[in-house]
Order: sequence, then structure tokens, then C-alpha cells
Amino acid sequence: MKTEGLAETLSRVHGESKAAAARGRVATYIPALAKADPGAFGLALVDSTGSVFEAGDARARFTIQSISKVLALAYVMTELGEVAVFSRVGKEPTGDPFNSIIRLETSASRKPFNPLINAGAIVVSGLMPGSSPADKGERFRAFVGRLLGRGGVERDEAVYASEKATAARNRSIAWFLKELGILEGEVEDTLDVYFRQCAVSVDAVDLARVGAVLCMDGMDPVRRERVIAARTARVCKSLMVTCGMYDGSGEFAVDVGVPAKSGVGGGILASVRDRMGIGVYGPALDERGNSAAGLEALRRLSDELDLRVL
Ligand code: GLN
Repeated sequence: MKTEGLAETLSRVHGESKAAAARGRVATYIPALAKADPGAFGLALVDSTGSVFEAGDARARFTIQSISKVLALAYVMTELGEVAVFSRVGKEPTGDPFNSIIRLETSASRKPFNPLINAGAIVVSGLMPGSSPADKGERFRAFVGRLLGRGGVERDEAVYASEKATAARNRSIAWFLKELGILEGEVEDTLDVYFRQCAVSVDAVDLARVGAVLCMDGMDPVRRERVIAARTARVCKSLMVTCGMYDGSGEFAVDVGVPAKSGVGGGILASVRDRMGIGVYGPALDERGNSAAGLEALRRLSDELDLRVL
């Protein structure tokens, strides 16, 4: 594939997908997210040689939100091992919205179905090493910095404070987990770690870079060094296929056919085996919480570049 061709395709797909933002709305349940520009739209791609391609608002910053669940999973697997995580959370999709609580009571196992829904992610946050929520948050950010190949990864303090002040649903989930006996530490402290990780500030290029690391099974193609174990990368990608786009995961697997993870900040991280990572920013979301223009762009890129791996 010619480098020039890839840049042109990305820019054309950006132009063709932009209008799809009108089908979505920015998230408002975290009040600070409502300030996002619904028309903002950026695409980035990092290929297996480490070359970076960008279109539109690829350098606009936004909060990583649920995409942090993949990074937190990779981090805790790295620090504590796979058994520590998966003795407390499953590997199965739910088909429910990301913040659903219902299966915690009704399923026989009485543990969250997977680490990419809120219930499972809060359990993972509770496993992060550190002496306080702030220390845990710092250590997680340092890990994200290593994955992104840059220091100084920031947190959006306004979004963090806004979510912390309003998270009645996540508090309900966390207290339920406490009652089930699978949440480490104090409920409010664990939630604080979760809100900190969700408020990490990234751009589409950062997400493409993580996607590229995952596509190379944990090797950073830019620095040419291993940043996560191959097994960890595999677990993350498999769960992204089955659970990464919430109750839209099945449709996404059919339409796009690559591992991906979305967040209500408008980001999508996608990873195409051996070939590339893709990062998207488009804060106007569909009814499931996935970027409307981002979904359109990924469908088109998948067709144009024959990305399907499923
Ligand atoms: N912080 C958000 C929440 O817990 C993340 C959700 C998401 O990105 N889907 O509600």
C-alpha cells in the first residue's frame, strides 16, 4: 500500500463522514461534556512502521472516558496478572448499555460480565496499585504515557470534578459491587480512581498510537520496543471485539470487523491486526454512546482499505 494513498483515503473519508455528526448528540449526563463542539471531527492512523496520518481535528483534546477501560485492563494485567483480574470479572458480552446494573443481581456468577462495562471497569480500578486514589491515578497516567510514547499525559480537571459530582448511577453500581464482596477498598475511593482514569486527556493521534501498539501485539511500532505483553494485548483486543462498542458491538463487528473501543467523550480506538491503529474524535454520539461520525468513518475505512479481520 502506498503511503500517499493512505493519506488521501483518510482525508476523503473524513470529508465524506463529517455530516454523520448531525445524527448524534454530545453527552450531557456528565455536565462538563456538554461543552464539546458537536461538529468537531478528527481521524488519525498510525501504521505498522510508525508513520502517522491525520485528518481534521486529530489534535483536539478530549477525555478518554470508557476507552480508559482497555488501558486500565492492560495496566492491571501487567501489574497483577490475568488471574487477579478475571477471578473478579468475566469475559462475556452483555448486550446491555454500558452503565447497566441489572445483571449484577440476576446472573448466577454475581460478578460483572466483562471489564469494559462500567461495573467491570470499577472492579478493575479497585485493583490498581497505589497508596491513595491520587497516587493510583498518577501511576495509571504514567502507564498511559508509556503506551502513548509521551510524558505529561494530563487529566481534564473540570470533567473529572463534573463526573464525580454527578455519578449517581456509577455510585449505585459500586455499592452493589461492594455488597457482592468483589470491590477492593472504600467505595468512594475506588470511584475516585475510576473518575480520574476516565478524565485522562488524549487526542485522536494518541488513540491511533495505542491501536498500533495493540495491532503489533504489544510492540510500539514507533519506538520499536515492547510496552505490553503479547497475551495482554490479545485479551484486550478480544474483549474489544465482543464488548468494546457496548450494545452496538455485534453490529460493529459485522459492519467494520475490527477490535475497537468507544468512549462518551467522542473517542474511538480501533486496531487492525499487523496493519494499523486508528483513532477517532467526534463527540456527537448515537443512542448507544458511540461517536456517530466516527462509526461512519470506520465503516468507510473498513470497506476502502479492506480492514476486516473477522
Ligand atoms: N465515565 C463514563 C461513565 O462512567 C464513561 C462511560 C463511557 O465512556 N461510555 O459513565
